[in-house]
Amino acid sequence: MLIFSTQADLKAHLKSVSSSKITIGFVPTMGALHKGHLSLMTESLKENDLTVVSIFVNPTQFNNKEDLEKYPRTLESDVEKMKTLDDAIIVFAPSVDDIYEGKTISQSFDFDGLENQMEGKHRPGHFDGVGTIVKRLFEIVTPTNAYFGEKDFQQLQIVKKMVEKAKLPVNVIGRPIFREKNGLAMSSRNERLTAEEKEKAAIINKTLLEAKEQFGTKNANEIIEWVEKTFKKETDFKLEYFEIADESTLLPIETKVDGKKYRAFIAVFVNEIRLIDTISLN
Ligand code: AMP
Repeated sequence: MLIFSTQADLKAHLKSVSSSKITIGFVPTMGALHKGHLSLMTESLKENDLTVVSIFVNPTQFNNKEDLEKYPRTLESDVEKMKTLDDAIIVFAPSVDDIYEGKTISQSFDFDGLENQMEGKHRPGHFDGVGTIVKRLFEIVTPTNAYFGEKDFQQLQIVKKMVEKAKLPVNVIGRPIFREKNGLAMSSRNERLTAEEKEKAAIINKTLLEAKEQFGTKNANEIIEWVEKTFKKETDFKLEYFEIADESTLLPIETKVDGKKYRAFIAVFVNEIRLIDTISLN
């Protein structure tokens, strides 16, 4: 398995093996790989001649120092997992210095307001960090197709917006959420939960499923109230937000309009570990 730790080496390799006829699939990750990540890679391997996976914990997208410090870094076992999937995966695991060249700061982006909702509201600067790293990685990897999970639905919409606005030559492909047996969305941060917390965290997805059920008959405010009440009773959890929003603008729903797609979004703390999830409502 080829593992590159500098952008210069990766670029040189890609130049030597690719041509205009070759398609490159790209899966950007922050490592601590789980089946959700692997499903994106499987898709990329199926649809492209080459697949590049990046593993990089991007400091500029963290607004919380402790979250960045405690983010799991497990390169060795990540490589083992990818080897089992397909030895032909090209791994890019650069250092912060290699990517940021001494200036670990974000560029400012305008994502037509998508950045001001939900994760953007609660994690100031997060999407400037995401935009900065994704744009930089796209420049280095020059992918034909890039794969993102719907678990980070707002991120997916933001990356699509960035590509559209900057007219970047890449297809951004969203893929469904992989879940644990109990419904908990797989996440690298789940590694920081105890077995008991993981079991209890099933309530996040259960709440989303129930909200979907209620969406048929109740209005958004009633559902929001119900979710807030539910989490007040759950002392192990702290609800940060629950929102029902238009899938394309991410603006909170006012009245349901026929033909529009809606989605529920949730962020919950289990102790200091922050988990997010989302579900399509119609
Ligand atoms: P991360 O390493 O958390 O930055 O995630 C890398 C990519 O994997 C992102 O596009 C995520 O949306 C995606 N991803 C994370 N968790 C899941 C999951 N449970 N199912 C599918 N995709 C996921």
